[in-house]
Amino acid sequence: MAFESLSGKLQEVFKKLRGKGKLSEKDIKDAMREVKVALLEADVNFKVVKDFINAVTEKALGQEVMESLTPAQQVIKIVNEELTSLMGSTQSWLNLGNKIPAVIMMVGLQGSGKTTACGKLANLLKKQGKNPMLVACDVIRPAAIKQLQVVGSNVNVPVFTMGDKTNPVDIAKASIDYAKSHNMDVVIIDTAGRLHIDDELMEELINIKKVVNPDEILLVVDAMTGQDAVNVASSFNERLDITGVILTKLDGDTRGGAALSIKAVTQKPIKYIGTGEKLSDIEPFYPDRMASRILG
Ligand code: GDP
Repeated sequence: MAFESLSGKLQEVFKKLRGKGKLSEKDIKDAMREVKVALLEADVNFKVVKDFINAVTEKALGQEVMESLTPAQQVIKIVNEELTSLMGSTQSWLNLGNKIPAVIMMVGLQGSGKTTACGKLANLLKKQGKNPMLVACDVIRPAAIKQLQVVGSNVNVPVFTMGDKTNPVDIAKASIDYAKSHNMDVVIIDTAGRLHIDDELMEELINIKKVVNPDEILLVVDAMTGQDAVNVASSFNERLDITGVILTKLDGDTRGGAALSIKAVTQKPIKYIGTGEKLSDIEPFYPDRMASRILG
């Protein structure tokens, strides 16, 4: 699971601090240097680490901590608060707007887990009493439509498809009309992923966005790709103004750099995490719980 090694290293740092009783400025600065190394080793974005360390150091050197009877505890509390704030402070709910159907556009690179995430989200919404529909707009990857159909049938959610010969923008548009006339209240659009971000991919997504006016544009990124995931998030956000991120494969990510950097770099929240291959392996992202887990 994510953060194993970061968690272990931070615990070491805090153990040392606890052993000292009263803390000097040097103690805190030494500890912060070790925290910095641990975060960089966890593949957290360099600038994010720098800002984080500055913020924690400034607070930790404050009078309240230095004169406290339990200074190490205070420092841990500050680290906890800053980690939580780094990841977005509060949990970000899905925004389904107020039109029917609500439209969720799913975007991401090939292999990120986008199609799986479409099924996971549909499953989740169904459990919440919604009547979702999946839309197959990936007409590029062979078997993408079939895969979405399999995912749809596994969670018992209908899949709207017009085959792979129709323009995805037209498919997206038609799917909204279909949803309206069939009492579907949430439309989840699976768009094409490419191996790399390219203009053609972005153009297509921008055009789909224009015709469906989505309530959410969720970018699916693979946590295991670390800072690449963060760069992908920045690029998609610049072009599409995404509303949030689904961070997949957190179960296989031992470092956690993407989870810790994405919000700070893009200003867009992680809304859900993927924690396995099963269609039930999805959880809302809680920054405070994640911070507590990191601190052990
Ligand atoms: P797409 O190309 O972006 O649509 O990606 P897929 O949905 O086909 O997923 C690619 C691979 O990642 C598949 O083998 C999925 O089972 C796997 N996968 C997706 N999400 C997760 C996750 O949260 N954890 C793990 N371990 N595997 C995942």
